[in-house]
Amino acid sequence: MAEPVDLLIDEAWLVATMDEERRELAGGWVAIDDGYVVGVGSATDLAPRSLKRINASGCLITPGLVNTHHHLFQNLTRAYRPMTSAPLFDWLRSLYPLWTASIDEESMYLAAWVGLAELAMSGCTTTSDHHYLHPARAGDLLAAEIRAARELSMRFHPTYGSMSLSVKDGGLPPDDAVRDEDDILAESERHVSRWHDPAFGAMVRVALAPCSPFTVTPDLMRRTAELAERLDVRLHTHLAENSEDDEFSIAQFGLRPVELYEDVGWLTDRSWGAHVVRPNDAEIARLGAAGVGISHCPSSNMILSSGIAPVVAMRDAGCPVGLGCDGSSSADAASLWQEARLAMLQGKLVAGVDQMDARAALEIATRGGAACLGRLGELGELSVGAVGDVAVWRLEGPQFAGVLDDPIEGWLRCGPLGATHVFVHGKEIVSDGVLAHPNLEDCLSRHRLAARRFQPQIS
Ligand SMILES: [Zn+2]
Repeated sequence: MAEPVDLLIDEAWLVATMDEERRELAGGWVAIDDGYVVGVGSATDLAPRSLKRINASGCLITPGLVNTHHHLFQNLTRAYRPMTSAPLFDWLRSLYPLWTASIDEESMYLAAWVGLAELAMSGCTTTSDHHYLHPARAGDLLAAEIRAARELSMRFHPTYGSMSLSVKDGGLPPDDAVRDEDDILAESERHVSRWHDPAFGAMVRVALAPCSPFTVTPDLMRRTAELAERLDVRLHTHLAENSEDDEFSIAQFGLRPVELYEDVGWLTDRSWGAHVVRPNDAEIARLGAAGVGISHCPSSNMILSSGIAPVVAMRDAGCPVGLGCDGSSSADAASLWQEARLAMLQGKLVAGVDQMDARAALEIATRGGAACLGRLGELGELSVGAVGDVAVWRLEGPQFAGVLDDPIEGWLRCGPLGATHVFVHGKEIVSDGVLAHPNLEDCLSRHRLAARRFQPQIS
């Protein structure tokens, strides 16, 4: 008789595998061993014996959701009253000094710990973080957030972000928030060599991420693209976020943001851009032909009044599209379920009621995110050989009463909803809706103290 597998999640209402055929398995199960999926099946397929079993009756099982754009440190100034009604540029100009003055390894660690816990409870198993703020005295902030991710067993794609163009050179951030470009490139290489794991199933991968056209020079963009090519890592930045972004690029460089992106060598499937609210039709075609990934951030784009990204058109053009919750000072929630729901609603509103159903939004939240991170076939799907990253969603209670016909549409049309169980590499990190790690209360109270330092109006 075969050895029992580590984990079996069975008797689900439905398993939405999101595999290449998008199989949906009624009464289904998922088997995981040594961190990887070793079997999926429906009620009529024989499941293996297991050491641990989770009964998922009444539940939808999906791949763990993938977050492709975040600024974890920003939960230290979440819903901060002086900043809640400003458009992007004013909002950034006001917050840069607060962030620059207070960020350090301890606050970065706590922000990441709490932010990753929040994401996990929304069904997220892999997240990227775009951390672009590295004041000279702040310490090793990437190491601090990777420590938090390891403690929580989240799959993590930190990016070494950068800012080099300060106010005195025509940029947005203050002088003490930016770094010398040679230092940035040296630090980028150091972080990649220290943390980046190219192996299949890796828990930590590093990408390079100059912040935006209004915070770095085109030369740094160009040199970063060359470095990413040499190190074989991915590239990430903000792209075509709002009208201010357009106006800045045209005034400074005589190019629209997508034209600038192309000019500095980023129009490649090695890169994924956040927001991408304002590409025109010709630019959408160029982005699609190049296979540039798109991190769709619907909450952030609405709360900052930036606009609605043309997601359906970009997917049709060939862009992989994933979800991003964006930083917790703008968005301000970090629920991947909520971003998936908003992606569905915006898609219907802009492109037509039949252009974005719950299945398409789930695909964006899983396979689309995996593609943005260069990991399609490895995560974002439940198929034999993929990583054992799973979200289990119990569709019960008043908000799901009457959902009998279609648990995937029910999952995203009803709610709000947090994940019931979440597994990363086969390890349970959310159990019965509760974070499995015991330190949440301790980290929340330490986070509250740290956040007070960032918010000078709070006494
Ligand atoms: Zn952002």
